[in-house]
Amino acid sequence: MFKKVLVDIEAIIHLPVVGWSVEQGARDLEDFLRDHRSRDNYRIDIRRTYENHCEFCGYLEDYDADGYPSCCSAAQLEWEATRTEVLS
Ligand SMILES: [Zn+2]
Repeated sequence: MFKKVLVDIEAIIHLPVVGWSVEQGARDLEDFLRDHRSRDNYRIDIRRTYENHCEFCGYLEDYDADGYPSCCSAAQLEWEATRTEVLS
């Protein structure tokens, strides 16, 4: 019924970040590629991925079935304190 179809491929380019922005580095590299006519359709996109990590233990944000942070007791205490403030 369903068939696996490849719809997109992303290549990752690591740009040096010293003294310039990543966006500027991407534009500079695109300009360089544009000088080579056979690569006219190449484009560089900057995609940033963010995750929420616990400020106490560093684990990825996650909650148990009751809605409590599941990573560490410090996060659970903080969550309890915040919840108490909201309720009072
Ligand atoms: Zn934690």
